Amino acid sequence: MKTALPFNRPMVSEVGFAYLRQAVDNMHLSGDGPFTRRCHERLSPMVGGGKVLLTTSCTHALEMAALLLKVGPGDEVIVPSFTFVSTVNAFVLRGATPVFADVRSDTFNLDERLLAKLITPRTRVIVPVHYAGVACEMDAILRIANAAGVAVVEDNAHGLCGAYHGRPLGSFGVLATQSFHETKNFSCGEGGALVLNDPTMFDPAEIIREKGTNRSRFFRGQVDKYTWVGLGSSYLPSDALAALLLAQLEDAEAIQHRRRVLWQKYHTSLGDWAADRGVTLPFVPSHCDSPHHLFAMLAPSLNARQAMLADLKAAGVTATFHYVPLHLSEMGQQYGGRPRQCLVTESISDRLIRLPLFYGLTDTEQETVIRAVQNTSLKSVRKAA
Ligand SMILES: *Cc1c(COP(=O)(O)O)cnc(C)c1O
Repeated sequence: MKTALPFNRPMVSEVGFAYLRQAVDNMHLSGDGPFTRRCHERLSPMVGGGKVLLTTSCTHALEMAALLLKVGPGDEVIVPSFTFVSTVNAFVLRGATPVFADVRSDTFNLDERLLAKLITPRTRVIVPVHYAGVACEMDAILRIANAAGVAVVEDNAHGLCGAYHGRPLGSFGVLATQSFHETKNFSCGEGGALVLNDPTMFDPAEIIREKGTNRSRFFRGQVDKYTWVGLGSSYLPSDALAALLLAQLEDAEAIQHRRRVLWQKYHTSLGDWAADRGVTLPFVPSHCDSPHHLFAMLAPSLNARQAMLADLKAAGVTATFHYVPLHLSEMGQQYGGRPRQCLVTESISDRLIRLPLFYGLTDTEQETVIRAVQNTSLKSVRKAA
């Protein structure tokens, strides 16, 4: 039996291996070595100029955000229900109450039109997630947040290299979080970053990231010993992982170009088929630049989606669904504030299907995926003449 075409295939380039070797030769495998510094320098302009700190994951960057903003019991955090667990879990860990917002049916992003009704005097943070790297409506979100004195933290796990009205994602919130997990556009296996758009948060962020100590200041010679000065944990990655990440960041143009080509090929090749089968192809508003993190389509129904997944699997192609609504999850039911109805999220979650999209996907492999999709058993929705 031939092996299935995977949903994702991680990649380490020759340069990546050379950098990894160099990190070992440097004898600096703990955090904040030379490769980490070079990643910080590369990343900052990519997210609009904010200070950047590499972290062990996006999850940990979100935990740092919750600590930095001193979120605690009695505070409410507005989050989309259609997102990864960590967007919410990081704040629940601090004792805050998540208030689930429904998403827009076109971009699957937090629906900014619902915010006014969800904000209460207890609201401390809004966490927009740029799904697939397509921007949330940041003008409206920031207007509402600023008027209410609420912080915005962008979960930008999908959005590196994306833009809203020409401005890079990651530059809008007081804080933003990045992911370099194996499945993301740029990866070192497990990794992330915290973006700080308020310079006064940099010192407290360094302390949180270094186990609650002022060790970073000590290493810069700013204090003559280091000690326990705040809450914190160990959120800095090994310089070996930064070495792998740097090689990819230096290759950003080629990686993003290939993803754009693959995404557009799917979009044009599947247009007629989608229209005939009642499938919705991904939508990117004209004021958004997409980093093409995902190719996510909507089947007409849950049954149609399940049939498609089964047909693709039988054809040796790994496609997959996505987030299960968090407001319906065990933890969401237990911890979530009211209201708890997110009908668009439920409908999208039932019908969404993602196709393989990664840097190393070959033209031949993509042809196989496209043919397999066109050959699924989905019925035409056009009325017979
Ligand atoms: C991947 C992802 C995360 C978690 O990233 P890790 O680096 O694996 O912790 C958080 N939020 C979103 C939206 C993600 O897609």
